[in-house]
Amino acid sequence: TVGTDWALAWIRRTADVIAEHRVELITLDREIGDGDHGENLDRGFSAVLPKLETLPDGSTPSDVFKVVATTLISTVGGASGPLFGTAFLKAAGAVSGREEIDSAGLVELLTAARDGIVLRGKADVGDKTMIDAWSPAVEAGAAAAESGADERTVLDAAAAAAEAGAVATEPLVAHKGRASYLGERAVGHRDPGAQSSALILRAAVEAAT
Ligand code: ADP
Ligand code: MG
Ligand code: MG
Repeated sequence: TVGTDWALAWIRRTADVIAEHRVELITLDREIGDGDHGENLDRGFSAVLPKLETLPDGSTPSDVFKVVATTLISTVGGASGPLFGTAFLKAAGAVSGREEIDSAGLVELLTAARDGIVLRGKADVGDKTMIDAWSPAVEAGAAAAESGADERTVLDAAAAAAEAGAVATEPLVAHKGRASYLGERAVGHRDPGAQSSALILRAAVEAAT
């Protein structure tokens, strides 16, 4: 199982990885959006870090994710703040009260996060959004858990599927978000939110080692 140490390590690793990939995410968003995605997420996860220090001993993974959610919603401008904020809020709800999360619990967490993004943004798979990373991640994580995989293997399957899903946004026309204004001109460019989602899910694997 994974617990609060994992949740904290995941979010701290995410903040590092987003900072490392800030320029790459800005560049992707400059091509089919307004060029602020890396800055938005870096601002948000940087703001989360000091708040994690204030969590009392005995905090659960759900408590960690609630802090992430409220901070992202209040500090990240743009579409991605409320979307990732809702993802972490729903993830918190899915594992509420649990100190330890097993493989099936991770699937519940990932499913709730994905469903939260869909509830908020109404994107379908193939719309060239972060859902194109999250949906395959949920499916791959669920398949791994059903075949008896341990927690790290479930997360690794999810992250690998998210990475493939992000790459697979490249040939798509966008139907949601700013990129949808570009029509065919969005073709050939990777969706920034799908890419950042893959980075966030990869950080979850690294935190489980
Ligand atoms: P903004 O577009 O407001 O500048 P960001 O640049 O931070 O916000 O985030 C853009 C990303 O948000 C896109 O790459 C896409 O993945 C995601 N996104 C935008 N709209 C939606 C939506 N309705 N559903 C899911 N994801 C969306
Ligand atoms: Mg943007
Ligand atoms: Mg913007």
